[in-house]
Amino acid sequence: MASPAPLALSRDPFGSKSLALSSNSSMELQGTTLGASRIFGYQLKSETHLRLFAVSRSYQGLPLRASRDHSSMTQQLENARLETVTKAEDACDIFNDLKDRFLSFKKNKYMENIEHFQNLANAQAPMFMVIACADSRVCPSNILGFQPGEAFMIRNVANLVPPFENGPCETNAALEFAVNTLKVENLLVIGHSCCGGIRALMGMEDDGSTSFIKSWVIVGKNARTKARAAASSLDFDQQCKHCEKESVNHSLLNLLTYPWIEEKVAKGELSIHGGYYDFTECTFEKWSLDYSESKKDGNGRFAAKDRMLWC
Ligand SMILES: [Zn+2]
Repeated sequence: MASPAPLALSRDPFGSKSLALSSNSSMELQGTTLGASRIFGYQLKSETHLRLFAVSRSYQGLPLRASRDHSSMTQQLENARLETVTKAEDACDIFNDLKDRFLSFKKNKYMENIEHFQNLANAQAPMFMVIACADSRVCPSNILGFQPGEAFMIRNVANLVPPFENGPCETNAALEFAVNTLKVENLLVIGHSCCGGIRALMGMEDDGSTSFIKSWVIVGKNARTKARAAASSLDFDQQCKHCEKESVNHSLLNLLTYPWIEEKVAKGELSIHGGYYDFTECTFEKWSLDYSESKKDGNGRFAAKDRMLWC
């Protein structure tokens, strides 16, 4: 997977270098922020006076009762100023941390593999197109080690692939580019444990109320029906877990509704895979769509092969 990307493809609109924060990075970031906040609480004592002038304009509209309770209001003002300064410092600290990470990446990865990255600047030829959840804990590059140039990726709520008949959306636009232009050889849909999107799907009432989340996750309604039927004797959490995997299989079947995907799968030029990352146990299940079995009898049922469990 670490081999340099070939230069056969022409320059494309997705050829630019982009890096996403890893899931661990997000978690570390939170820890860093909290830590910095605590540390900065002590620094404030010596730095507050200079900084307060910069934020004092925010408090020009103070209520008149301040004149009747001067000491109390002064304390409130001081507290508010301290809070504002602390937030500003925390924000600055977050980006200082990102700056350090970027410069570390540049020094230790980019400059160490400069020929590879310069090739990537001209073109990309990833082996994988990955559809994963937007959840900050399940970044595929982090858990599966995808390096720049190895996986074209889209992340959405609950890692869903809508069927072709639903019309254009960000996910199938990315699929179209990856399959038809980049000619990836593997499509991988990754589900995960404790998925909030799947929970929203399983828990939503068909009461006519709408939200962006409901409008999106309803794409998985067939998986919900199947999960509810198969796991009806289990509690809600277990039903959700069942649906997390079932929805991946439905997404794999939905991939076949795109004519330009099914054609390549039928020719053996493209493979479709499912994955499930359980971050409570740190295990990863991988399986592949058995195309010939899935098409047998023309009923479009899901059939898997090459199932593996990495633990
Ligand atoms: Zn999720």
